[in-house]
Amino acid sequence: MPDIIHLLPDSVANQIAAGEVIQRPASAIKELIENAIDADATNIKLIVKEAGKTLIQVIDNGKGMSETDARMSFERHATSKIKTSEDLFKLTTKGFRGEALASIAAIAQVEIKTRTPDKDTGTQIVIEGSELVLQEACSCPIGTSFSIKNLFYNVPARRNFLKSNNIETTHIIQEFLRVAIAHPEIAFSFTHNNNDVYHLEKGNLKQRLVAIFGNNYNQRLVPIEEETTIVKLHGFIGKPEFARKTRGEQYFFINNRYIKNNYLHHAVQKAFDQLLPSDSFPSYFIFMEMNPASIDINIHPTKTEVKFEDEKSVYAILRSAIKQALGKNNIAPTIDFELEASLDFQLRPSNHIVEAPTIKVDTNYNPFKKETENNSNYSYKLKPNQHTISDWEKMVENNLVDTSKNVQIDYQDTEQEEKQVFQLHNKYIVTPIKSGFLIIDQQNAHERVQYEKLTQLIQHNKQLSQQLLFPQTIDFSPENMAVLLEIIPAIKQLGFDISEFGKYTLIIHGIPQQATENNIQNILEDLVEQYKLNKSEIKLSATDILVRSMAKSVSIKSGKKLSTQEMQHLADELFACQMPYSNPSGKPTITTFSSEELDKRFKK
Ligand code: ADP
Ligand code: MG
Repeated sequence: MPDIIHLLPDSVANQIAAGEVIQRPASAIKELIENAIDADATNIKLIVKEAGKTLIQVIDNGKGMSETDARMSFERHATSKIKTSEDLFKLTTKGFRGEALASIAAIAQVEIKTRTPDKDTGTQIVIEGSELVLQEACSCPIGTSFSIKNLFYNVPARRNFLKSNNIETTHIIQEFLRVAIAHPEIAFSFTHNNNDVYHLEKGNLKQRLVAIFGNNYNQRLVPIEEETTIVKLHGFIGKPEFARKTRGEQYFFINNRYIKNNYLHHAVQKAFDQLLPSDSFPSYFIFMEMNPASIDINIHPTKTEVKFEDEKSVYAILRSAIKQALGKNNIAPTIDFELEASLDFQLRPSNHIVEAPTIKVDTNYNPFKKETENNSNYSYKLKPNQHTISDWEKMVENNLVDTSKNVQIDYQDTEQEEKQVFQLHNKYIVTPIKSGFLIIDQQNAHERVQYEKLTQLIQHNKQLSQQLLFPQTIDFSPENMAVLLEIIPAIKQLGFDISEFGKYTLIIHGIPQQATENNIQNILEDLVEQYKLNKSEIKLSATDILVRSMAKSVSIKSGKKLSTQEMQHLADELFACQMPYSNPSGKPTITTFSSEELDKRFKK
């Protein structure tokens, strides 16, 4: 038998390695920007065409490379950043594997122009699929300019695997923001298809966050700061009232490197505990500095997963630092979000009868008398029992009592036209039906109702807009503004009278009839978030995504107390829907309990 084992040619080995390091344009961009930071650049420009599929260029003003280094940098395991394995335990650079450039050069057409400060001329190198095409002296500024053209041109399987330009761009923005937030001391710019997406001056962290996410972040951020022997913390958390409905602005950095860590995320979530409505997520930008020897960033090639010693202590420190920050800034745990979101419109009629519960006292009762079988002669009576059923019905009709508190009456016996309803935990509407009883989830149900109504109105061009007395301007982050501009026609259909007003600002002249003036910003931000979240995953039209989001924004929330009439009205509207059994995203609106089920439980 002949021997069959041989070493793979470098180009093939590099292509295989590339599979791990470079999954998509965004990963190549991350590597290039990190190299620029490691080269001490103070200004980094990112230029991208077609979501990075045709061109990625990163231009830095860092220390550049000599001619030999420039050539060497494309070899596998070629790095200037570590020398021995001990160095792995005191990493202060972003890179260290020496794999990125070799990998990128294996799967793209790469051109580099680089010059060190001590030379007048620089070096230009062109490599395609690991093959050197050109190497010569060139004139270029100090620093390095790196272009990648036609990523994956020679790996069609990979290239076909890339997602739509929209999705790839979202990944790019994500990577870009992770480094841009980690390094406010560096100026960054990002141009996509010749449009300026971000232009970030050097500054401090807060200025950087405001530049990225919009002016309104000035009021939203609470600083955190803590120094212990294990970890030094600094950064910002978002005030709870600005929490997002979707996960988004959540950033951890260890030694200025973005990381993901569910365990620490949990610590933050815990610190916010009672302060957040259940379906929202806090924003945070938290920087941890730790001895590099106590963390291990070597466990994943893309290096967002990090292991560290003493996770438990870090968890506790983080949680308490955030609690402290929230406390210092007087963010009391009693904020009523639901009230803020939608004003309570339920007014009590002026002739409301308030009756004190009566207590019958047995005056003959002698507490010192020896106990007899039936000494409990006084009883606490609940209101409904003081009335006959028909008294009660009249009061309900006149809306003089709040049925939500009086669950004892047997509605089945009342031969009322109107369905009896009561509210449970300000969340569910309970109503008897012939075969048992029915529970409606008020929020899910109202979302369904609003969704169908809005769809109808829009289909028939009947959706109205209410003009604002004072037009409002709202600032958005460049990322969200880009999305908004894309969906403005659909937003107008929803009833917004809206136009551009400056680069990242919209002016609102009118809002949908269902909306209220005080939560326009929330509605619009939700629209953007939902659109971003759903546009690529499900095959829905922009309008449909927005109608769903808007239905959600303007609907009654869990936690809102409803009057009897409101409950009856909602139940009627729900059953008039075409699809009453679930909300637009498929969550159930109603559930029923049969009398048999009840009988069984009581062993009847
Ligand atoms: P690593 O960053 O892990 O060392 P890379 O393959 O990313 O590996 O880069 C190889 C080497 O090329 C780096 O160690 C560095 O010396 C050099 N290099 C890469 N990009 C730049 C740049 N923008 N400016 C200066 N030197 C660079
Ligand atoms: Mg690198």
